[in-house]
Amino acid sequence: MQTYDYLVIGGGSGGIASARRAAAHGAKVALVESDTALGGTCVNVGCVPKKVMWNAASLAEMLHDAKDYGFALEKMPAHDFLALKAARDAYVQRLNGIYARMLETSKVERILGRARFLDARTVAVGDRRLTAKAILIATGGRPTRPQLPGNELGIDSNGFFALEALPASIVVVGGGYIGVELAGVLTALGSKVTILTRAAGVLREFDELMSVTLTEEMAKTGVTFMPHTEVAKVERRGTSLRVTTQNHAALEVEALLWATGRKPNTEGLGLEHAGVRVDAKTGGVVVDDWQNTEVPGIHAVGDVLARLDLTPVAIAAGRRLADRLFGGKTAAKLDYTNVPTVVFSHPPIGTIGLTERQARERFGDAAVKVYTTRFTNMYHAFTARKTPTVMKLVTHGAEERLVGAHLLGIGADEMLQGLAIAIKMGATKADLDATVAIHPTASEELVLMS
Ligand code: FAD
Ligand code: NDP
Repeated sequence: MQTYDYLVIGGGSGGIASARRAAAHGAKVALVESDTALGGTCVNVGCVPKKVMWNAASLAEMLHDAKDYGFALEKMPAHDFLALKAARDAYVQRLNGIYARMLETSKVERILGRARFLDARTVAVGDRRLTAKAILIATGGRPTRPQLPGNELGIDSNGFFALEALPASIVVVGGGYIGVELAGVLTALGSKVTILTRAAGVLREFDELMSVTLTEEMAKTGVTFMPHTEVAKVERRGTSLRVTTQNHAALEVEALLWATGRKPNTEGLGLEHAGVRVDAKTGGVVVDDWQNTEVPGIHAVGDVLARLDLTPVAIAAGRRLADRLFGGKTAAKLDYTNVPTVVFSHPPIGTIGLTERQARERFGDAAVKVYTTRFTNMYHAFTARKTPTVMKLVTHGAEERLVGAHLLGIGADEMLQGLAIAIKMGATKADLDATVAIHPTASEELVLMS
């Protein structure tokens, strides 16, 4: 039996961050990762390769606009999908190496293998038996797909990053973050995309102004929407797929992408031997506000909680936990409210806090005041292609404290972080009004709304 102060299961965003922070506090730390590539979902099949593809898609849009700015581009230059994939894969591999070196320099012992609990204090990795004062479950999640005939013929987001050529036509099932982001990339690079959603449009849980505007914008870029639609079966027809919906429509396409959600990686972990409880509905490990499971000495962070599947959330929760356990910061814990998030759609969306509907439900109509604006970014003054910018600020009470902000448009992804600081600090509408605008920008509208 090998004994550590801290044993981390999972070398993704949350696990690596927590392990390194604990080691910095002087703890003896081991990290178990089943994949030879470190970094987890975000680095290998998530944020990082996705952002590369989003950048490529944004570039494609700007190339369309280039002639309006005087560039002599007679026709759209050809795009080499495979070359982009090779460059992206090489970048991800560099990051894998950087993570490995960071663990080394942090003096975190790296163990390659699949971990499983034998009991509440013993973890097995192959023939090795490990124990620690504190054990962290940071095993993340994986894509799910509906159980229906032919579901194996589709790809999921992992399969998207393995594509070596752009499919000429594709059905994207699901209108959440991944459906929207990958449909946007595929469309901008030239695929014919049909998106199937169970709801009326995309991003059902976002503020209505965001979901309605983005649904309209995606349709304008050529995405075909099939709302209130679910897939009944998928069949192979030569080189195509035949996708039949529950209302008996049939589509012939080259590929199908399941973007129907993710589920926590708890299977095969032996949680039942340790007594760690998972939520019956979400499948996520149950923790309290301090990332403690119900078993003393076993903690969990990140996507395995099925709570807020975002890299910075996993990192922040992991670091604060290590600060509390090994750094003497007894009050350290993550506040899960007012977490900003960006959807890398086209145009992007930045959102934080309550939607208008949530605020009205929580505080009552009389206590909620909303400010909205819609305009066309100056970038489009010269372009035939136009995208809107829409913004909504949700305030509460007589002092008009900001409880939500929802931005869609060019630059919304980069605009939100600064606003999020103000909101986290408790800013009111008057604080925004007192801030001098930066001209000419789109973000200046945030301090000019009336
Ligand atoms: P992971 O990063 O998934 O790491 C878990 C690790 O545990 C994995 O490496 C896995 O191999 C390992 N593991 C699992 N079981 C075991 C075991 N039994 N033994 C040993 N190792 C094990 N978030 C953002 O904030 N911004 C984005 O733009 C963004 N884009 C995304 C795009 C896509 C397509 C996807 C899928 C996700 C995206 N996310 C984004 C979400 C983000 O990737 C996750 O929230 C984040 O990676 C979660 O980190 P984690 O540490 O909880 O889990
Ligand atoms: P989401 O939960 O965001 O969306 C899942 C979508 O799939 C919803 O539209 C849902 O519909 C639909 N769906 C679920 N089951 C079915 C079904 N059987 N048939 C048809 N549609 C179905 O999950 P994602 O996989 O898109 O993303 C997972 C998480 O990863 C996100 O919540 C986010 O936290 C994180 N992520 C973050 C990103 C970022 O920060 N930019 C980018 C990508 C992922 P309905 O609404 O009707 O339930």
